[in-house]
Amino acid sequence: MPRKALIIVDVQNDFCPGGALAVPAGDEVIAPLNRWAERFSTESWPVFATRDWHPADHVSFRARGGPWPAHCVQGTPGASWHPDLRLPPGTVVISKGDHPDREAYSGFEGTDLERRLRELGVNEVYVGGLATDYCVKNTVLDAVRRGFTTYFLTDACRAVNVQPGDADRAIAEMEAAGARPIAG
Ligand SMILES: [Zn+2]
Repeated sequence: MPRKALIIVDVQNDFCPGGALAVPAGDEVIAPLNRWAERFSTESWPVFATRDWHPADHVSFRARGGPWPAHCVQGTPGASWHPDLRLPPGTVVISKGDHPDREAYSGFEGTDLERRLRELGVNEVYVGGLATDYCVKNTVLDAVRRGFTTYFLTDACRAVNVQPGDADRAIAEMEAAGARPIAG
């Protein structure tokens, strides 16, 4: 029997329009994710929400030679959930990238996400959020590698597209790994 969980990836102010590392149209994921979250909550299936939770001197920041402007610094408004995101009661928050010297695009990297999913008997995960070509992709690939049946939510992801086509390549990579696209 499938035992499902929803994994909402990094729907934080800094990744939405106006934020320090805004994903184009990033806030468009919120309405579909709210619907997914409500559906899961109604079925009593668990909901997880990952967040970038960086110290001020994080290795991914340009000040340390990384690729990104400072973003999602712990305790700042930029690191907060977008105000329109409706996380159901009981949502499990997974903080990642909280070590100054380690980057973590995947929600599984350096966190207890896998253990928490296993404890709940989850074997099937649904992943959406920001951004398609970084944290969603890496979370999806890690879920597949760990043996979860993995769906990515095509209506609830948006991409950075540093290079044109990055989103399409990310989707192709997720599908080639065995993840399945699903629309709401
Ligand atoms: Zn980050």
